Amino acid sequence: METIDLIALRSFTRETGQPTHPELLDTTPMEHVKEIEIDEEHVTITYNQKTTRYYNANEVVQREWVYKYNDDPEFVAAIARVIALSRKHLKDLPENLACPPGCAECCSGYEPFVSRADARRIAGHLKMTYTEAVDEYVVKRPSADGYHLGWLRKVTDDVSARCVFLKGSKSGHYYCGIYEARPDDCRDFTPVGCQDVDESLARDAKFEIGSPFRPRRPARRRGR
Ligand code: SF4
Ligand code: SF4
Repeated sequence: METIDLIALRSFTRETGQPTHPELLDTTPMEHVKEIEIDEEHVTITYNQKTTRYYNANEVVQREWVYKYNDDPEFVAAIARVIALSRKHLKDLPENLACPPGCAECCSGYEPFVSRADARRIAGHLKMTYTEAVDEYVVKRPSADGYHLGWLRKVTDDVSARCVFLKGSKSGHYYCGIYEARPDDCRDFTPVGCQDVDESLARDAKFEIGSPFRPRRPARRRGR
């Protein structure tokens, strides 16, 4: 993904001495432009769709941020250039941006929450009962609202170990062994702004995905 360059905006501010404080602009959400309104005197940019998630008892609210400017036509023009670039890169919005093939750093450093619906989907995918799947693959921590059961198990007790469903032997060749049934938490993960990406991987790389994840003892478990 190309980076939106705000250097011109910053130097413009230095030149004019306008009290615009660009350092206070959080430019990271520029990739999440939700709405832009421009008239002759105003530029209003709204970033990020507001979403609310419940992780256990904690309400996590994605920030919604609005910036308005109307004092300096040159500054507005500078903003307009940024907007034009943002529009050009709309294709880079989270729903359209792919991770480099084979990167799975997040499948180690991150603990996806598992809901009852996730557990039912994973159980069906692996042809296990709901209880078997939860016992085998979920580290339980029931949430106050009853929505999440816990998080996905790692291959060891170390929380930074790889997800039990991660397949492949090295970066560039990792893949999710239950991709169609992965938890919603994994589906929501976005490479936009990801700090963990393996930068050595090419986004147009290709590799052949191996076999899907199989439970270790499916026959015995089915008979339990
Ligand atoms: S379920 Fe798949 S996508 Fe989710 S953490 Fe595990 S390997 Fe990664
Ligand atoms: S780019 Fe980030 S989100 Fe995507 S697989 Fe790599 S670590 Fe995970």
